[in-house]
Amino acid sequence: MPDFPPDFSPQNFLDSHFLNPDRSNLEDIRKLGYAFVDLIVDSVLDTQNQAFVQDESSLKLTIPEHGTKLTDLLAEVRSQVLPRTVNFQNPRYMGHMDSVPTAITIWADALISAINNNMLSYELAPVFTEMEAQLMQWFGNLFGMGTDCFGTLTAGGSLANISGLLLARNWKQPQSKASGNSSNLVAFVSDAAHTSFEKAMNVIGVGKENLVRVPTNYRGEIILEELESAIQKAIREGKQPFFVAAIAGTTVTGAIDPIQLVGEIAKRYDCWFHIDAAYGGAGIFTPKLKPLFQGCELADSMTFNPQKWLWVARTCAMLIVKDKQHLVDGFDGELPYMDAHTLNFGNLNLQGTRRTDSLKLWMALKAMGISGCRYLVERSLDLSDHLRQWIEDSPELDLVCEPTLNIICLKSNDPQLSSANLRQQWIDAGKLWLSLPLWKGDRILKAVVLHPYAG
Ligand SMILES: *Cc1c(COP(=O)(O)O)cnc(C)c1O
Repeated sequence: MPDFPPDFSPQNFLDSHFLNPDRSNLEDIRKLGYAFVDLIVDSVLDTQNQAFVQDESSLKLTIPEHGTKLTDLLAEVRSQVLPRTVNFQNPRYMGHMDSVPTAITIWADALISAINNNMLSYELAPVFTEMEAQLMQWFGNLFGMGTDCFGTLTAGGSLANISGLLLARNWKQPQSKASGNSSNLVAFVSDAAHTSFEKAMNVIGVGKENLVRVPTNYRGEIILEELESAIQKAIREGKQPFFVAAIAGTTVTGAIDPIQLVGEIAKRYDCWFHIDAAYGGAGIFTPKLKPLFQGCELADSMTFNPQKWLWVARTCAMLIVKDKQHLVDGFDGELPYMDAHTLNFGNLNLQGTRRTDSLKLWMALKAMGISGCRYLVERSLDLSDHLRQWIEDSPELDLVCEPTLNIICLKSNDPQLSSANLRQQWIDAGKLWLSLPLWKGDRILKAVVLHPYAG
């Protein structure tokens, strides 16, 4: 790589950052790529035996007046930045819904950055627009959402949930797109549902206070009688129920609501039915869990994050809809500078510019195959079963509830040792990194067994 300063020259500078059309720096650019490959393999991936966090001190950034030699910059990242991150490669890290990405999706993400197409419109990304459309229909079919299903990739499950609620509002009160929302709408999710539903109620202007949190049982599954009586109470109070969600894989216990029955209640009260399968959706790949997804055909929309339980490098999440027309009507954006006759995802999405995450998702599916997805999902269920056995065999530990997925909730039953202190002991000893969620008023320990070599 050219060295600057002291020998700064515009040509050196340009050649450090872009491929020169005369190809004189082709090998330099290639070498930079190889240096990144070494950095990723040696300092990110090959860290299974290293601490959860090597350096807990804070980092003071400096932005220099003059550019930094790129090899020096990589060395600084290696020595100063990476030791301060949480090391998900350590198979004893099981804290949250963070997976180690499959190798293909790490490199695919770099490929996406190199192509740098924009999913705003067909003319900017023709092949990727088609790829995203076909993938969304494929996932819709996988969940049994019918022949008119469609969807869009989003920058996360929160955004997919927000989008679902917006579509629901605009379906129930089409005039609210133009004139704002009239205030008597009310939505229903369980008290174990993700906090993005509050965010969503804020964003769509219906307001957080109009989100009813329905009680769950000890495992975190919505109680159907409570749901129905909450809806009836809202109606008696002159409110208009418009949205009911079932959660497939709750954030703390990984519970799956009875999808079919929640869906039937939603339909009985003329509500939009949304399934938040951000985490649990990957369960569809195994016959062990597939029966729990019965009733998805009732859903008007569904959230699913391959970036969680399908090991796709972030970001990769989606909103699927039963009827493409709802996406068209719900967002109804205009792209005056684009050809209106083609499929433009910018019209079907809250985001404008988006990365071509479809390429990464398609490559992941293609590389693993459906049987590979099934294998990995079942493997993580088996590994979590080992953890569960270990807890059952440990007199000082209790299971909080019977797990549904590869999420195990436990607590200390030693009166002298709180779960919080136990957690810290385990982290300090390098034994396990678990999270400490609040569950039914208690701090408990949670393990999400995603690492394919967990344990
Ligand atoms: C993770 C998660 C979300 C939010 O997804 P993000 O990608 O973090 O925005 C929503 N719902 C459930 C059930 C989740 O597990």
